[in-house]
Amino acid sequence: MPDLSTDVRYIRGIGEERAKGLKKLGIVTLRDLIAYFPRAYEDRRSIREIGSLQDGESACVEAMVDEPPSLNRVRKGMELVKVKVSDGTGTLFLTFFNQSYRKNSLHAGEDYIFYGKAEGPGRRKSMVNPLVEPPGTGVLTGRIVPIYPLSAGITQTMLVRAVDQGLAACGDLLEDSLPDEILQDHQLCRVKYAYKQIHFPSSEEELDVARRRLAFEELFLLAVGIRKLRSRREDCSCAPYGDLDLTAFYGKLSFDLTGAQRRAIGEILADFASGQPMNRLVQGDVGSGKTMVAAAAMVCAVKNGFQAALMAPTEILAEQHHRGLSALLEGLGIPCALLTGAMPAKARREVLERLERGEIRVLTGTHALLGEGVAFQNLGLVVTDEQHRFGVAQRAALSAKGEWPHLLVMSATPIPRTLALLIYGDLDVSVIDELPPGRQKVETYAVTGAYHQRVYKFIDKQIAAGRQAYIVCSMVEENDTIPDDRKAASAYAKMLQEQVFPHLRVACVHGRMKPREKDAVMSAFAAGDIHILVSTTVVEVGVDVPNATVMVVEDAERFGLSQLHQLRGRVGRGKHQSYCILISDNRGEEARARLKIMKQTSDGFKIAEEDLRLRGPGDFFGQRQHGLPALKVADLTCDAALLKEAQDAAGDLLERDPDLAAHPAIACRLAELFELNGEALN
Ligand code: ADP
Ligand code: MG
Repeated sequence: MPDLSTDVRYIRGIGEERAKGLKKLGIVTLRDLIAYFPRAYEDRRSIREIGSLQDGESACVEAMVDEPPSLNRVRKGMELVKVKVSDGTGTLFLTFFNQSYRKNSLHAGEDYIFYGKAEGPGRRKSMVNPLVEPPGTGVLTGRIVPIYPLSAGITQTMLVRAVDQGLAACGDLLEDSLPDEILQDHQLCRVKYAYKQIHFPSSEEELDVARRRLAFEELFLLAVGIRKLRSRREDCSCAPYGDLDLTAFYGKLSFDLTGAQRRAIGEILADFASGQPMNRLVQGDVGSGKTMVAAAAMVCAVKNGFQAALMAPTEILAEQHHRGLSALLEGLGIPCALLTGAMPAKARREVLERLERGEIRVLTGTHALLGEGVAFQNLGLVVTDEQHRFGVAQRAALSAKGEWPHLLVMSATPIPRTLALLIYGDLDVSVIDELPPGRQKVETYAVTGAYHQRVYKFIDKQIAAGRQAYIVCSMVEENDTIPDDRKAASAYAKMLQEQVFPHLRVACVHGRMKPREKDAVMSAFAAGDIHILVSTTVVEVGVDVPNATVMVVEDAERFGLSQLHQLRGRVGRGKHQSYCILISDNRGEEARARLKIMKQTSDGFKIAEEDLRLRGPGDFFGQRQHGLPALKVADLTCDAALLKEAQDAAGDLLERDPDLAAHPAIACRLAELFELNGEALN
């Protein structure tokens, strides 16, 4: 007897070769097979009359083969089977390419169901390569049929038949991981039913029932998982900070903080004084000045005797933060240091020693901060910048280096509410909804490659006026090998330097440069010694050079909306009018839709929502970036209410059974889910 762990080769028609193809789709066992959900459906329930078919319409007909099929060899390696069928309302001419077996499998005088796209007018209707089933079979026709994402060597028909068999073989062995009371409370169907209906729905309503059940389960498990990750922080207390005076810090700033920045700092100070570890998200559009808010928090932590750490997603950003922070904080007598993965061993050792002795009070760095050798004397505040790039577990790992340190998460990419709810759950949120004064809206243009010369002229003029420019080119992917950003960016920079801007200084940064080289180029650009910086998306996040006023993005269609918004956010940071020029020769609908949105709005939240809608949540940040399991069924753009319901249910359950002792099935699913994604859940 097969069970859920039986190999897919159990299925009739699946041999070694096809099993390999299925494996590419992540399907190894029967459980994988039936958990491979359709991406769309085709309603093939109704049998249509041939006479009523419109040109171009896809439909099922039930028709009799009028006379024996004919087999024609068109040329070597190309065979056609032609057959005429009719149903009393009309006649259809069918053509099958390279399916010569049809000659003997279709019998004159017998009825079949055909599904395909009808073509041609009135009396000369035809179908090419229709699906064929004897009446009453009902696998590929006569019902709502699933459409699956495919890989090489796997066809829809094959997969539909395989899933059909798989469900028949072991669909009934599926066990609910959701307890009965949750099913009842939330009016969810049983998992067996949901699996059957998600593949072969008996109606649209039943499909909704199935989808809702499966989406709920996904969101519920995620919510429980995230809460468990976080629960260690709840119910613990820490000594309230006594010294909340930041006058000296404010005195060092060359500008007044905005109202929104002050409010955020006020909220943070209140957390510090509360005696409970802070869990706060500071969300603000690019350029809203989140770094100063973090700096204020760090100064306060240090004044109260603690060390503070700031983790940034890229070396460039970590270095920039370190430069800015040390310039500001060292003036207040706070020793700062930088730690990145690529530091020479000796320098690294020295930093680590001074850190452990407590000499370094503020440490800025990349993932390197998570390293085993990194030990603080008394870590009191953890700040993560551009947090969506870090997994939930990474954040937890860093805070584990202190004793319930305060946690401050800064998110520059505005996260759509639905996603924020999922990723950040019950974090407190401070929103910086105000830009520093004097900022002007970045003028955005979308042009084709034909405009290159004019774009170069424009850059030239801006530079003559004392400004600087970024040119971002996307990575070139060469057939599946690792994309080589170095080639694209540095060759382009060389061309620009030699042929277009010989009188200016052009430099290049890309992801494969040594951190020190990158740092040197970035510092030179920040100091104004370089006029034009050609780069890959390493400038995407956080980089701050207020004198740069032009952002040119080559092949703009290759970038996601949120990424484009981030890139655009690199300019318009100073007092000069800034420009973003998106170059794209792609006339595709989606590419155009994206560029249009960029022209229309500079509201990061709106852009993020659109991005989510256009690309779907799986793609939104890249799964690995937010470190959460991918959602297969739930759709965050429309399941917000369900998410809320699932989160409430997760909260209730953990309140009753914090260790999941009474719910081993859930504990087990969680372990699977989060382990698959490299997350440790404890
Ligand atoms: P982001 O929110 O994108 O991280 P940053 O913290 O990098 O923004 O700040 C963007 C720029 O604005 C920096 O050059 C910073 O020094 C400057 N800035 C921050 N706050 C203010 C303010 N209140 N007034 C003027 N400039 C500010
Ligand atoms: Mg920033």
